[in-house]
Amino acid sequence: MDMSKTITVVPGDGIGPEVTAATLRVLKGAGADLEFDMQLAGVTALEQVRDPLPQETLDSVERNRVLLKGPLMTPSGRGFRSINVQIRKDFDLYANVRPVRTIVPGGRYDDIDLVLIRENTEGLYVGVEHYIGMHGDSRAAAESVMIITRFGAERISRYAFEYARRHGRKKVTLAHKANILKYTQGLFLEVAAEVAKDFPEIEWEDRIIDATAMQLVLDPYQFDVLVMENMFGDILSDLMAGLIGGLGFAPAGNIGAEAAMFEAVHGTAPDIAGQGVANPTGLLLSACLMLDHLGESATAKRIRDAIDTVVRGGEGRTRDMGGKAGTEEYTDALLRAIG
Ligand code: NAD
Repeated sequence: MDMSKTITVVPGDGIGPEVTAATLRVLKGAGADLEFDMQLAGVTALEQVRDPLPQETLDSVERNRVLLKGPLMTPSGRGFRSINVQIRKDFDLYANVRPVRTIVPGGRYDDIDLVLIRENTEGLYVGVEHYIGMHGDSRAAAESVMIITRFGAERISRYAFEYARRHGRKKVTLAHKANILKYTQGLFLEVAAEVAKDFPEIEWEDRIIDATAMQLVLDPYQFDVLVMENMFGDILSDLMAGLIGGLGFAPAGNIGAEAAMFEAVHGTAPDIAGQGVANPTGLLLSACLMLDHLGESATAKRIRDAIDTVVRGGEGRTRDMGGKAGTEEYTDALLRAIG
């Protein structure tokens, strides 16, 4: 007998509970073989149990190894540190997988279908920074250190090729800046080229990051899977979301060897929270990535097809997609499309 898989679910702050409720309804309606272990994090947790990241939530993720997470409010400047960053660090979620696919045709580009795989733990974002004092000025200069390890470059490159193989994708592009940063970016390039040899059936190329940005705008169709270090990936993943009309349809998976977290790319949308008008598609597409990760790709496909049908049909669209439907009406339309 098949045992259904239990996943940890954190609805999060702002519109989080609304888009999470919609997502869970669709998962159930599509027949996903899942149990939901509901947990707290963020401001909601701070208010209810005085801890923005309760031990119980961490224990649940440790146990279930898969987390579906709504957006969390991160206070700017003062207050607690980003819970998202903390979870990524605690569970060493080294691969940030960001697919972009055209859902609404007639935009700037049709038929975009790309995947960016961003290294999530190294590079300039390790946060090794300091000021340098000179001539009596304690902040005369500032320095930030980019760290690339052979280990980190190898596991993200391997992840990208294995992802390509698993998903029947033809080509992997490494975008880098090894012409200028000969040591850090040079090491990344050297390691990726070595890993590429283990995947002879997949086409491989390396390109300079700035030229890649231009080519993505001029002719995105020449790419397939792209892999790069942390900050380059941060910037280009937003550029790529722009190719499909913005962050509304942009899901993300944060994958580690032992655990994985799936979340929408957008935030808590405090301006519309509690109004029942939020668009749950970002979280829903993230849940589809989760289903792929769990080997339930047929269910993921049913949900993606329903999203395509409803959004292209126009009727069930939420306000941010130019429609009039609320979260619940849109979700009802998805469930009807699933049948
Ligand atoms: P945001 O994404 O929350 O909102 C930007 C704009 O997009 C707003 O006008 C909002 O109404 C709209 N929007 C966002 N998601 C929407 C949806 N699903 N449906 C309809 N409209 C939507 O970005 P922000 O305002 O910069 O951030 C607000 C808070 O979210 C901050 O505290 C930030 O730290 C947090 N945040 C969390 C995450 C995360 O948990 N992964 C990501 C980004 C931002």
